Amino acid sequence: MTQIHWSHKGELLLQKRRNTPKELTDSIPQYISSDMPQQHADFFAGLSYLPLATLDQQGRPWVSLLVTRSDHDPTVGIKVLGGNTTDVIAQTNPYDPFARALQQVPASAGEARLFAGVGVDFSNRRRNKIAGSIADASVDETGKVQLRLLSDQHLGNCPKYITVRNLAPTRRLAQLSYDSFEGNASVLPAEAKAVVDRASTVFLATKHTAQGNTNGTQTDMGVNHRGGAPGFTRIYEETDGDAVTTYLVLPDHSGNRFYQSLGNIETDPQVGLVFPDFATGDVFYVTGEAENLLDDDAEALMPRTGLLTRVKVTGALLIKAALNLELTSGEQLSPYNPPVKLLRRELEQMGRVPSDDAEAISATLVSTQALSDNIKTFNFKLSTPISALLPGGFGIFDFSGLLDRGYSHMNEANPQLVNEDFVRTWTLSSTPRIDPNTKTFRSSDHVSITVKRKPGGLMSNVLHDNADQFIANNLPVAFKGTGAGFTCFSGGSDGMPLTLPPKMLWIAGGVGVTPFMAMWDGILELAKANPDQVSTDIVLLFAGRDDDINVLRHFGSQHGTLPDHVTLRILALQSVSGSASIARSTRDGLRDTISDSILKIEERRMGIDDIRSVADLSEREVFMCGPDGLMNRSETMLTELEVEETRRHRETFVF
Ligand SMILES: Cc1cc2nc3c(=O)[nH]c(=O)nc-3n(C[C@H](O)[C@H](O)[C@H](O)COP(=O)(O)OP(=O)(O)OC[C@H]3O[C@@H](n4cnc5c(N)ncnc54)[C@H](O)[C@@H]3O)c2cc1C
Repeated sequence: MTQIHWSHKGELLLQKRRNTPKELTDSIPQYISSDMPQQHADFFAGLSYLPLATLDQQGRPWVSLLVTRSDHDPTVGIKVLGGNTTDVIAQTNPYDPFARALQQVPASAGEARLFAGVGVDFSNRRRNKIAGSIADASVDETGKVQLRLLSDQHLGNCPKYITVRNLAPTRRLAQLSYDSFEGNASVLPAEAKAVVDRASTVFLATKHTAQGNTNGTQTDMGVNHRGGAPGFTRIYEETDGDAVTTYLVLPDHSGNRFYQSLGNIETDPQVGLVFPDFATGDVFYVTGEAENLLDDDAEALMPRTGLLTRVKVTGALLIKAALNLELTSGEQLSPYNPPVKLLRRELEQMGRVPSDDAEAISATLVSTQALSDNIKTFNFKLSTPISALLPGGFGIFDFSGLLDRGYSHMNEANPQLVNEDFVRTWTLSSTPRIDPNTKTFRSSDHVSITVKRKPGGLMSNVLHDNADQFIANNLPVAFKGTGAGFTCFSGGSDGMPLTLPPKMLWIAGGVGVTPFMAMWDGILELAKANPDQVSTDIVLLFAGRDDDINVLRHFGSQHGTLPDHVTLRILALQSVSGSASIARSTRDGLRDTISDSILKIEERRMGIDDIRSVADLSEREVFMCGPDGLMNRSETMLTELEVEETRRHRETFVF
């Protein structure tokens, strides 16, 4: 069967679209061996579990994670007999869709029943693919499955994206929670979606149908592992009248560039998926129709993704306590996992979708200003002015043109680089100017970002370390657009005047102060252009570490000249983890810069009394931006102080 890959239309198409080098394309079939290598035989014989798929009567793939070791039943196990023959005996449960499919007459009666699997050892991330036909199968009423497999395709795979975990056999009592094996899947239960949200390990079964061959239609199957950070598979629903369709979206994480699973989908859309929840033993099984989306089509569904697979769920089962395995260790995610990418619709809900007005704009760094040891402002000139953005919004910068060195399969020294897209988002800490005629913000060709070094982070350190070279060599980076959502301003378009809440509480942590820097400058700009338009009273509670509190100098630059109807009071709370004397001199320096009628600084953490004692709390709109810990504590305190949800506005720096 390995010769099938010489003319596999789907694989060849994707390899071409994704620029797999021709030498690799030409040699791929040689990596697939029709005889089981001894190394694979030893590997399979030692496995306690085996993801295996077959087709049901309708030709739909179903994949299950068979458990091939039992403390109760010594007959359970994998025996490699030689001659590409392997016996598998596994205890499943009566509801298992793989076992149910085995009991049906095969779709193409008379032809061999197909199977595919991927042996995986989670303890050491080894995996080997296997496929062929099932010579003999039986399933008893308890779900005990006996199979004789004849394999004719064997391929070793890399350890990328596999979560390390130790598992031991156990015995659970399976309960069927949701079942559309026979009918059509509609609204999936929330518990099934929660399994998808938590999963860092998924198995994908695909089917390859080659038409017009001299031998007529030829079919074979494939199963492979898909892994990522929990939540890497996104889920969404579409409603048409009463009908609800569920879709699963799996972004393609850079692999060996063979595109075997995705290539199969190009020839036959039917796929199966299994999501085992190793913590609870619940298992979610899916069969559906898949399509691969590339480039703009992928980007339209999931921004910053060049290739993904979308599966329309047509059949699904949630079986609780289905997995006769228990987790006997913690789980260790793969260092190759890229961050979870969200769907465009999810980003839209968060106000995080870039505007498309800045497609071919470049940004050139012109100057920098250090605010603390680890925080700097970077000032960029844009090749084309961007339309006005309400202060508090963000810009998206793409450094791939400068830094991307192309494909690498593995990178032990820096695994994150394998899927790195060199795109980052930063709040625009500068504010646009006010147009004196319209009294609204006008377009601008200068933007600033204020960036804190992230320990171990890539782009924040590239910026901090190489700013001088960027400036000296006029190195442009691509400016991909802007996005808004978090701002204290409203109006400003369609002839509507800019307005502000009369009273606000701003809660900022560390570099989370950047949107407030832009908002503050915007308020002063507006007040300068139109004093009658602006009347606002702001309390800023700021929590910062060591000399990071120096970012507050930004609010002192207008010291003594505040407009008539604008008031600002800042309570800065400093936590000290470095040198006490630097911390003290930073506080003293700030006190010298900003009047004590505006700024109070104390060395301690923020507590509920700091919020409680804010005057007129019940009348203030509350804006928050900072690290998750501070945000969550603030939310809890605000709830305790009965500040309604509708008055709370929150920005997060997590994409
Ligand atoms: C709306 C918003 C506003 C922000 N504003 C600021 C700000 O004003 N100042 C500031 O210092 N920070 C801000 N951030 C955080 C900023 O985007 C960076 O996360 C931070 O600077 C660290 O980047 P890094 O490259 O050093 O770290 P890294 O750890 O290398 O990357 C951090 C983030 O970049 C993305 N990323 C990482 N690896 C990949 C990959 N392989 N492929 C694709 N994406 C990847 C992920 O979103 C990840 O969380 C903001 C974030 C958001 C979402």
